[in-house]
Amino acid sequence: METFKTFMSTEKNKNSDVLQQETIHWSSYTDKDLALCKKTIRHLHGRMNTSLDVKATDYDKQIVLADIKYGGIYRPRDCKQKDSVAIVIPYRDRIEHLNILINHLHAMLQRQKLYYGIYVVEMSLPVQFNRGLLANAGFMTAQSIGTYSCYIIHDVDLLPLNDFNEYKCSPNNPKHLVTKNSKFKNDALPYTDYIGGVLALTTEQYYRVNGFSNLYFGWGGEDDDMHLRIKARNFTIVRNAEHIGVYLALPHNGDSSNPPNPYRDLLLQQGAYRMNVEGLSSISYIRKSLEFRQLYTWVLIDCVESEIMSHYSNLRISGKDYIKKNKIRTHSKHYVKNSNLHVASKLRVNRPSRLLRRQIVRRT
Ligand code: UDP
Ligand code: MN
Repeated sequence: METFKTFMSTEKNKNSDVLQQETIHWSSYTDKDLALCKKTIRHLHGRMNTSLDVKATDYDKQIVLADIKYGGIYRPRDCKQKDSVAIVIPYRDRIEHLNILINHLHAMLQRQKLYYGIYVVEMSLPVQFNRGLLANAGFMTAQSIGTYSCYIIHDVDLLPLNDFNEYKCSPNNPKHLVTKNSKFKNDALPYTDYIGGVLALTTEQYYRVNGFSNLYFGWGGEDDDMHLRIKARNFTIVRNAEHIGVYLALPHNGDSSNPPNPYRDLLLQQGAYRMNVEGLSSISYIRKSLEFRQLYTWVLIDCVESEIMSHYSNLRISGKDYIKKNKIRTHSKHYVKNSNLHVASKLRVNRPSRLLRRQIVRRT
């Protein structure tokens, strides 16, 4: 019998839909006698329809809820998968997208007969959003809960439209699962080396590249930095045929707590030099919460931007300068905290969404 590790959280369970202490027993799955799952197209639909009107309480009828363990972990009953996949979703304040994606993914991944778990990794306010750091924190958390062999870092606003797009890693190289994305002109990827959106790495590949950089606070750069790491380790990027990796991008505005990072080009210039010492091996964060929700595991992460940046004195701008030059963005954080509209208009920062404002009020 296989047992997932037991997890404890310090917070009390306030919600009956949430388990905060969980031991997952697969006793009903004595898979000794099961044959390996075959790649079969019998269960697949090809191009899928998708519902964009999903609320947390609506479950897609195709989801076999009974078979999903708390924390969003699933495994087929009628065959054995030797690989297990953790889907890691960096997240903040996009609940409508999250509901749509989670429902859509469970339906598709079950049809693909995968053994998988879904991890939503949220960045606590008021820190600037940091997709790379969240991916690393998700990797570490998922690894400490299960024994996954493949990690798929997944944007919350991208829906796979063809279920032949198998959510598995490629053994020899990282795999970019996106071949077409409706947010780009003609759905075409903006450049060959683009690996944004949905990226699959085996555990070994993730360690080889030392994960994502943790230094990209705000929007942009972390995926190009990952590409530099992949190249530096002599990996190439593999993709499916063009008609397979088709994604629908859900529309959204810019996020006030994720403004474009003005230092991303500078950080990128030195990205490959830093990769041995900066990334998974150097990550520092606080896990404020961990909940095994019905359809996914939710992790809340906090970190201190100035502390993370100040370790990198060999950045061309020193950590201290970075913080000084970063004043504008620090101000924008104050804005988010204080709802100071005057400063906001001067800095051209978007007004935070209603949901975000409510959260801010609650937290300050
Ligand atoms: N993200 C989020 N909340 C934010 C900013 C980013 O959840 O406030 C996550 C989400 O998974 C999103 C991804 O980070 O899909 C990439 O950010 P964004 O969608 O803003 O980038 P773009 O659409 O420009 O690639
Ligand atoms: Mn997006």
